[in-house]
Amino acid sequence: MIRHHPNEETLGLHAFGGLKAGARLVVSAHIAACRECRDAVAALEAVAGVVLETAETAPLAPDALARALEQLDAPVAPARTPIDVQALMDKGWWLPAAPGLWFKPLSRRVDTGEKLYLLKAKAGVPLPEHGHNGYERLVVLKGTFGDHDGLYGPGDFAECDESTVHEPFAKTDCVCLAATEGPLRFSGVARWVQPFLGV
Ligand SMILES: [Zn+2]
Repeated sequence: MIRHHPNEETLGLHAFGGLKAGARLVVSAHIAACRECRDAVAALEAVAGVVLETAETAPLAPDALARALEQLDAPVAPARTPIDVQALMDKGWWLPAAPGLWFKPLSRRVDTGEKLYLLKAKAGVPLPEHGHNGYERLVVLKGTFGDHDGLYGPGDFAECDESTVHEPFAKTDCVCLAATEGPLRFSGVARWVQPFLGV
């Protein structure tokens, strides 16, 4: 059961093509698992399509609104191709960050200021306490972690910005896919290994 969803702004950015590549992948992984958000994005995309169309063919076609509403009633878009979790797990190398904690950088898109990585933690391991210098969006691929907002299982989505400092912990062995903008602000031991991890 999915308990945590992207906020409306993130779903809107996703539908209107406003997310960077890593964030788009993280949101897509959630949407593949969540019918509710899939429907919401399909509806937003229908609106986005009409906005683009009418922008190109002003003035507004008389039936534009009717067509938009029709599209909202159209059958639900099929599930997006789920991302291949196993392929991501097999690709590249896990870098140890702390006992029971590993990172796997999947991109170092210096040009976009965005980084995409996998995070793997053993049950009971606290993830490094950290704040954010930018935006982080994360989806659980396997296992469960918890924070002050409750438990996050496969498909659950978490997003944080500058105002968030949290201390999540792995409830079971877990793997998450995360996209961040700007470096994380780790404290403690993780701060020393951070430069080597590229996060
Ligand atoms: Zn959702």
